[in-house]
Amino acid sequence: MQCTKCGNPKVIIKKEQSGQMLCKDCFIDSIEKKVIKTVKKEQLLDKGDKVLVALSGGKDSVTVLEILNSFRKRNIIDICAVTVDEGIDNYRQDGVDIAIRHAERLGIEHKVVSLKDTYGITLDEIMQKDNHKGSCTYCGVFRRTIINKAAREMGATKIATGHNLDDEVQAILMNYLEGNTNNLGKLGAKTESKAEEFTVKIKPLREIPEREIGLYVVAKELEVHFDSCPYAMQSFRGEVSQAINDLAENHPTIKYSTLRGYDKIKPLFKGEFKPNYSQGRCKRCGEPSSNELCKACSFLEELGV
Ligand code: SF4
Ligand code: ZN
Ligand code: ZN
Repeated sequence: MQCTKCGNPKVIIKKEQSGQMLCKDCFIDSIEKKVIKTVKKEQLLDKGDKVLVALSGGKDSVTVLEILNSFRKRNIIDICAVTVDEGIDNYRQDGVDIAIRHAERLGIEHKVVSLKDTYGITLDEIMQKDNHKGSCTYCGVFRRTIINKAAREMGATKIATGHNLDDEVQAILMNYLEGNTNNLGKLGAKTESKAEEFTVKIKPLREIPEREIGLYVVAKELEVHFDSCPYAMQSFRGEVSQAINDLAENHPTIKYSTLRGYDKIKPLFKGEFKPNYSQGRCKRCGEPSSNELCKACSFLEELGV
């Protein structure tokens, strides 16, 4: 067995989609080229952008930071980063420490923002409440709000997240399965909102399978936080992820075909079901919201915080 590209006998991967066998260097090169291709095809970056990387310290966000840094080195963009500390004992601190080290290594502006300092409660404390709705429901909403605020405070023009192919396919299927037709017009490599206060979000890793990102960080010897969140498997997303991975065992290209199929029908969803863009303001915190209270504040009220 030898590398399809250069003939090196030390093959480290057989690619799911193309069936190519690649050695370490050709694999690293293939991932970086594919991400750069997505950036160009989807027009994710403009010269002079200041991109805020949502940096958890996990493999996905570290990979986004690493690859976008090649644009920064060429003076095309500037980069800053934010790490959200949700307050999950025996899990989050390691990721925060790793994020700090990457930001220092690259010399980028970075801040860590905790749920506790922002909202007065940690995710673990929320999970002690009898009326909680599941960890990921709160985690996603609070994290999004914190990252949006950080983007405004740091003057970022884009927010880059580490969503990979698996994440995107899970989101597509979850929205189908839950009948969230409005959300089905909003997924994609670049999400925009009509509210000025929301910064454009980009997903440079949208076409890279999770497994390949794991291999990329190992091949590049990047320090990452590999542990899984203790709440991960309790979620609907966890169940959907398991189901897709089971199907992919016998149908290796199913994730790509789901993504491609969605991209083709997205314009129909967009036209038929108007996405719910926030138009007013939350009366409690002032963030953009279509209702009296934004999602984060209505959760806080329910939780009595
Ligand atoms: Fe948050 Fe859920 Fe992800 Fe854990 S699995 S970090 S609770 S969204
Ligand atoms: Zn090679
Ligand atoms: Zn609010």
